[in-house]
Amino acid sequence: MLYGIEEYDYDEFGILRRQKLNTKKVVFAVLVVIAAIAIVVASFFMSFFLDPDRKTNSDLAVAPVNEIAENTVIQENVQQSEQLNDIENDNLYKGRHSALPEHDVVKLSDNILPVFNERGAELIKNIYKSEEKQVYLTFDDGPSKEITGQVLDILKQEQVPATFFVLGARVELYPEVLQRAYNEGHYIANHGYSHIYSEIYQNKDTVFAEYIDCENSIKRALNNDNYSSFLFRFPGGSSGGYYKKVKSEARELLNSYGFAFTNWNCLTGDAEGKNTKEECIQEFIDTKGEQNSLIVLMHDSNDKPQTVEALPEIIKILKDEGYIFKNFYEIFK
Ligand SMILES: [Zn+2]
Repeated sequence: MLYGIEEYDYDEFGILRRQKLNTKKVVFAVLVVIAAIAIVVASFFMSFFLDPDRKTNSDLAVAPVNEIAENTVIQENVQQSEQLNDIENDNLYKGRHSALPEHDVVKLSDNILPVFNERGAELIKNIYKSEEKQVYLTFDDGPSKEITGQVLDILKQEQVPATFFVLGARVELYPEVLQRAYNEGHYIANHGYSHIYSEIYQNKDTVFAEYIDCENSIKRALNNDNYSSFLFRFPGGSSGGYYKKVKSEARELLNSYGFAFTNWNCLTGDAEGKNTKEECIQEFIDTKGEQNSLIVLMHDSNDKPQTVEALPEIIKILKDEGYIFKNFYEIFK
């Protein structure tokens, strides 16, 4: 019996005389081997071309970019949540100059843009010399998740305008809160980016960089490159204290670029240990005195619920005393 391609011849005694190859079988076997190789090769190529994730040459040119983009988004999310934790713990922020993700924002009106001119420069210089009773309510250190919205609700209910001196780092976190304040007619002004004194007041250029970083955050949140607040409030005030010299140089630098700054002449003390509604109202009354023109300092960061509680009463006192409520559009228009 033959199992292979060899054939055997035997003589009459059953002795193997010769062994020969069957040509037909050899050809058949070679064809089978070739066919098998062909199948293996074909299946390899089939699997390659049918693979939906395969990368063609043109895909490979694009792929690294996509991969970088995905990685970047992940890193940004981590960075953003770290910032969020910092702020919610009321520590100060890190991650300045970081490329934050673009927010989906509605294109807002170009109509409400501050304008800085000689009239405005003169008005802000003499802001405390008003003949009429006027008040500028100002809120620093926002926007915040909870408190800013509650302040806006009260302002809407009372139909009074205000000014928000925002921090760039918080604008990045709550752009929608900033949009709401802007859309409701309040003035968005600049309180720097980080609120970390040792960073801001290294020298006049770091103050200027804080100003520009905050302006850029505002522009991004409002989706409007034409927005410029022209108005800075130095964290801790524009003069005096440990950073007196740097502040003085920074004031000159900001002015040389046509940017103004303002302080306050009345406050609730909500950042100086006045933790209850009653304490805030009393501090407001004490610092208001008999002044005709008021810039009232308050804070809309998340750790200031007393400000929300005191605000309706403060507005009532001012209305009863005949003050006219203004924001900085009065000056920068
Ligand atoms: Zn502040």
